[in-house]
Amino acid sequence: MRGAVMYAPGDIRVIDRDVPTILEPTDAILRVSAACICGSDLWPWRGIDPVTSPTPMGHEYVGVVEQVGRDVTTIRVGDFVVGSFFASDNTCEICQAGYQTHCVHRQPATAGGAQSELLRVPLADGTLVATPAMPEPDLIPSLLAASDVLGTGWFAAVAADVGPGKTVAVVGDGAVGLLAVLAAKQLGAERIIAMSRHGDRQMLAREYGATDIVTERGDDGVARVKELTGGLGAHSVIEAVGTQESMMQAIRSTRPGGHVGYVGVTHDVQIPGEELFFSGVHLHGGPAPVRRFLPELIDLIWNRVIDPGKVFDLTLPLDRTAEGYTAMDKRTAIKVLLQP
Ligand SMILES: [Zn+2]
Repeated sequence: MRGAVMYAPGDIRVIDRDVPTILEPTDAILRVSAACICGSDLWPWRGIDPVTSPTPMGHEYVGVVEQVGRDVTTIRVGDFVVGSFFASDNTCEICQAGYQTHCVHRQPATAGGAQSELLRVPLADGTLVATPAMPEPDLIPSLLAASDVLGTGWFAAVAADVGPGKTVAVVGDGAVGLLAVLAAKQLGAERIIAMSRHGDRQMLAREYGATDIVTERGDDGVARVKELTGGLGAHSVIEAVGTQESMMQAIRSTRPGGHVGYVGVTHDVQIPGEELFFSGVHLHGGPAPVRRFLPELIDLIWNRVIDPGKVFDLTLPLDRTAEGYTAMDKRTAIKVLLQP
């Protein structure tokens, strides 16, 4: 089977790989219907995260179940399923509290790399959610978005305590930031400030519910959000980048008593303790427990209430994965869908 493997920064190849097999009785094997490239895949691509050995890539997936282990009871062969990037049992206390990414049995769901034709997923019953039937082809991009970027944007909005009557600011105009705008709208936010300097992304943000666009960044961006909120800052701020600048921009754009939901994977972020202490803001985030939201998100997509698949603005066959990395790196594509 074909699969994408990163050998070094800037060097990703689609090669023939071993067909995955059931290793544990709780595993499932999927035929991947669609996968994609994540902003976080760009960290090793750019050499910011080291690539120490050839690494199968991809952690977002939808597919059809081809095989299940003998202990799998709820997921069946032939199901079309969506899963998240961490496998979880969905039964332990942490899972039951809605934090499946911190499950006591958590493990990577996509160690074999989802940018491939076949994928082994551990803890299938706790990790995968089946759709009501085989989806219409035009729903597949949206279901794929649910496996990470939508679930992550949604969690960010929940972590930022978005709700009716609130003003929300979103730092980051990648797929997660754009889908956090969509989530904020669905969760009833009154005003949604999207921070973006790119025309195409601003348009999608507006389509998803942004009421204001702020193009300034850093301290200027903070000043602009304050200006738009009577000098107070937003009630809820979503951080969807992961850099020092974006994290501080998020904290400083939040009013005292407000909430920051941070989901950008942090790289060398240091929060000055004294500033945090005197800010009076709530901070919550981390790797999104996408599994918590999957049943609800699949339902919204299935009933065509939301259309998160619009973040995919480039579709490539799996064999052209490297072009997809380049397009996302150069920001000529928001998000790339790969067809095995
Ligand atoms: Zn668990």
